[in-house]
Amino acid sequence: MFQLICLTCGRTCGDLTVANCPHDGGVLDLRYGSADIPLQPQLPGIWRYAARLPLTDPKCIVSLGEGDTPLLLSSRLGPASGTERLYFKNEGLNPTGSYKDRIASVGITYLRQLERRAWAATSSGNAGASLAAYGARAAVDGYLFTLERAPRAKIAQIMSYGPQVMSVKGLGYDPAAEKATWANIEALCDANDWLMLITARSNSPHAMEGAKTIAYEICQQLHDEAPDVVYVPVGGGGLLSSIWKGFKEWRRAGHIERLPRMVAVQPVGCDPVTQAWEAGRQVEPLEDCASAVSGIILTSPPDGDLVLGDLRESDGWALSIADEVTYAAQAELASQEGLFIEPAAAVVWAAIKADLASGRLRGDEKIVGLLTGIGFKDSAAVQRMSDDKPLPRIEASEILHIQPR
Ligand SMILES: [Zn+2]
Repeated sequence: MFQLICLTCGRTCGDLTVANCPHDGGVLDLRYGSADIPLQPQLPGIWRYAARLPLTDPKCIVSLGEGDTPLLLSSRLGPASGTERLYFKNEGLNPTGSYKDRIASVGITYLRQLERRAWAATSSGNAGASLAAYGARAAVDGYLFTLERAPRAKIAQIMSYGPQVMSVKGLGYDPAAEKATWANIEALCDANDWLMLITARSNSPHAMEGAKTIAYEICQQLHDEAPDVVYVPVGGGGLLSSIWKGFKEWRRAGHIERLPRMVAVQPVGCDPVTQAWEAGRQVEPLEDCASAVSGIILTSPPDGDLVLGDLRESDGWALSIADEVTYAAQAELASQEGLFIEPAAAVVWAAIKADLASGRLRGDEKIVGLLTGIGFKDSAAVQRMSDDKPLPRIEASEILHIQPR
């Protein structure tokens, strides 16, 4: 079993189902009885770590085979940039194509434990697809309020799973619309006894526990050795914060001796966390967003201040990547590594490359880049990758005359 501890005031919550500290609204952290992490290999995917997840009834588990994603040693990009120890954790291989499946699996399982009838959420795409898929599997209804500028391909995927999907005016670039949306979803959920599932530690601390299993897996895949540096795309910030929590728990369990440095990567034009990090202040919401990298363009990151604390604690840093550099990195991952991933994931390779070139990263360090989602998610970006490539139309007889490259 677990306890809920407020990260602001340190109080323990008596009610294990609240989403925020009843005293000050602070972020709640789930803490477990002992430091050990006994594995339960008979349970599917991430649920082998159930001792460190908010599971009270194994019969409630909703799984589509999430987790156990590959950690791949870079075959070409790393060596060409002066490192033989660059790894990519390919989260695009989760059931709906992104790491959010880990969170949705835990979130919808938790919803069933609470016997709630429906979920409601905001999402730019990936979290919505995950919640919709796991909700469909659990036969619970879903209500998704999406960003006005969310890519149509992502919305199409969500709709196919059957929840009600609505696009909210101003959501994604107007802080006032964002605030009203969140408050109203919360009120709607309270009135109907639904569960609000936002993929942020400050809103859904129980569900977010699913994301930390990425850190457990990385350590196991490296034969219980921690990486030196871990690069994570940061939009809302909950992913980086959860992974950092996972590394700390894995060390406390005695499996690794040291912790990695964490690096937050944001897109130029929508990088409130990088700006705060460089200025040495708290995160302040941005007025507008000038990046098109869907999935990590949040003007007001809900877990932004947690990320700043994690970067300090881990001796890490934050940096931002321009969109055109991200698109070039996306194309390189596909053509040089065989990894077809979305732009929001490609930012990490762009950042690693920049840090190797500047000397901030050493070539002998063990680096892990987290690739958060698969390339099919953003059809405009897919199109862009092949726009300049010719598609000659030939006769079958001409095949014999093709010149080897
Ligand atoms: Zn508190």
